[in-house]
Amino acid sequence: MGMYDYLILPEPIKCKKCGYEIKLIQTKRFARLLKEYELGDLTNKYIISAIFEEHWSCDECDEIVNIYIIIYKGIIIGIVDNKEKAVNLLDNFNINDLIELYYQLIFKKSKISYRFNQLIKSIEQLIRFSKLSNAEQTKIINDKNNYEFYLIKNYIDKKFNIITTLTKIINQI
Ligand SMILES: [Zn+2]
Repeated sequence: MGMYDYLILPEPIKCKKCGYEIKLIQTKRFARLLKEYELGDLTNKYIISAIFEEHWSCDECDEIVNIYIIIYKGIIIGIVDNKEKAVNLLDNFNINDLIELYYQLIFKKSKISYRFNQLIKSIEQLIRFSKLSNAEQTKIINDKNNYEFYLIKNYIDKKFNIITTLTKIINQI
């Protein structure tokens, strides 16, 4: 049984003393099962709307940083470092804003999942390519119409190295 959960901040919150960017905090407000929570997540069905104030000690200098978690109908709709901002957000938030928030999150996630799929396919092609003989590899490199290795064909040459090739692909996707 865990003692807390993790909360991923949508935007880093800067420590006012040392400037360190806090990206993740621990919180005991939710299930306490070492789960990861982020913007848009449903927290606890008994929570209607609330603002939780966390006093997080900076990972770098131990300065206490106030972080406000804004909950609307049990859903995390914001995490900010300013109480007034938090109260304002919750007071003015409505169902349309929730739909807007979810559209943005879905759009972001579909972009991430597209990149992830491209990466997996590239890795599969790289592995398949690296298992071929030198002669077969040369044949593929010289074949402009080869579609079997379409995701990696711009990155493979005679001095093929799986790590450097993969690094180039990751930087491109
Ligand atoms: Zn600090």
